[in-house]
Amino acid sequence: MNRNSLFSLTRWRLAGWYASVMGLVLGIAGLGMYEAIAHAHRVTADRELESMAETLHQNLEATLVQPGRLEIASQQLLPNFCLANDNCFSAAEPPSHHLLNGVYQGNYYYIRVLDQSGSLIALAGLHLQGLPPPSKEPSWQSLKDGEGNRYRQISLPLHTQDDLFWGYLQVGRSFKDFEDYLAAVRLIMGLGLPLTMLLVGAASWWLAGRAMRPIYQSYSQIQQFTADAAHELRTPLAAVRATVESVLRLPQLPKTEARDTLQVIGRQNQRLTHLVSDLLLLSNLDRQTVKGQRQACHLQDLVSDIEEELAALAIAKDVALTSVFLVNCPLQVVGDEEQLYRLALNVVTNSIHYTPAGGQVVITLERNDNQALIRVKDTGIGIAAEYLTKIFDRFYRVGGDRSRQTGGSGLGLSIAQAIARAHNGGIQVESELGKGSTFTIWLPINF
Ligand code: ADP
Repeated sequence: MNRNSLFSLTRWRLAGWYASVMGLVLGIAGLGMYEAIAHAHRVTADRELESMAETLHQNLEATLVQPGRLEIASQQLLPNFCLANDNCFSAAEPPSHHLLNGVYQGNYYYIRVLDQSGSLIALAGLHLQGLPPPSKEPSWQSLKDGEGNRYRQISLPLHTQDDLFWGYLQVGRSFKDFEDYLAAVRLIMGLGLPLTMLLVGAASWWLAGRAMRPIYQSYSQIQQFTADAAHELRTPLAAVRATVESVLRLPQLPKTEARDTLQVIGRQNQRLTHLVSDLLLLSNLDRQTVKGQRQACHLQDLVSDIEEELAALAIAKDVALTSVFLVNCPLQVVGDEEQLYRLALNVVTNSIHYTPAGGQVVITLERNDNQALIRVKDTGIGIAAEYLTKIFDRFYRVGGDRSRQTGGSGLGLSIAQAIARAHNGGIQVESELGKGSTFTIWLPINF
């Protein structure tokens, strides 16, 4: 499987997982919401029913005198009642005037008054048949009629003013309106689900793409890095092999030839050792496993040492190397002295390498608030604007082979940047092609 199809497959898988998890979470949230709505309706309906039943019960009991007989006062209390001997009593549907005004509205409620034996004496609202016998204790019941409609009912025993058992009051409500409402909610959810899943799918695809981007980039970088490293290692190895093979072809090996061959092998070996140690340092800086000694480093001393070490190279290249300290007191940063030395050394060496004879390299040390600044300014060949961000990439060289003649492998600035970052600092460059470059290294003083 090639790189692109591997990433595409992974993106599809990731999007699939995102969509499934989001779909599941949305589904659970939707069900939860549906249940919460249903529960809130049930609780409100029960509370309404209870308060209505209690009001009626209280008022009715205050008018009851003789068990089984509904007094005129009781009937006046409930003006829309249909009494057992009225012909409206057997009607299948309640006429509209049978609804209790103000107490309940809509065709969803019913009120039933029963005698001691459970026979119906009066009724208002819905006419229901075949209800179970009432119990002597106040009780809640959930009922279902022949058509599958569900009802909720509360039964309360009635007593006369003398506390004689009179009969029962039943107040109930149909759940039809409520079920209609829930059916509408279910319909909306059902219709919304495919649309939501479509949006979730598109969002997942986009999110998976975003999540994959840095992985893809770092994968490409690793691939590029491996290819570059292999290329760099191959060159000295090939040189050694070619030298050895050409010498082995000779019938006899003169002393001078042997010495030259060993010198070539030694040089290439040194180059390889240098490269491998650079790679190791970079890899350790990446993993932040460099546990160099953190100590106070005097930057004036560090700059002077570098100037001293590179003086011979500068003279050989006919470049004037000088340093300027724009600070009065000693400038100290806490860090790994060896690494900080390497950081500045790489930058100054580059400046000397890329400055033609007769040019200048000036190292300036200064302080800016809590930062120590090491500026390396040269009058060299400069760097074109399009390469300014690339020169810190591993193995990157402006002009490829031309720079390789300087002996560098393209790792110098990457190492410098990695060291600066490991010390909570940084490095930046300003340059003009043909005029020169200025590299600025900043390091926190109270690190
Ligand atoms: P190298 O080992 O090739 O010097 P570096 O990482 O140190 O690698 O530098 C990367 C590239 O940046 C160099 O190949 C060179 O083209 C460019 N460069 C670095 N310093 C300078 C400078 N002072 N002036 C001009 N070009 C520079």
